[in-house]
Amino acid sequence: MGSVMFECPVTGQAVPTGLRADRRKFYSSPVFFARSYCPHCDRDHEWFAGDAWVEDNERRVPRFDAVPIAAE
Ligand SMILES: [Zn+2]
Repeated sequence: MGSVMFECPVTGQAVPTGLRADRRKFYSSPVFFARSYCPHCDRDHEWFAGDAWVEDNERRVPRFDAVPIAAE
């Protein structure tokens, strides 16, 4: 499990969404829009799951570079 993160469109900094997800499951799930509070801007941003990533073990893996699920 890792923290679902997205990039703040204003500051470009990583924002934790507060969601926790298994990386492979997150990358294979249908994309969706969500809204999360951004501490950098002190307001909410809407973000797209296709642009988000799961951060575990400090490694940032872009969704579209993820290992195919078939490898599981
Ligand atoms: Zn922001």
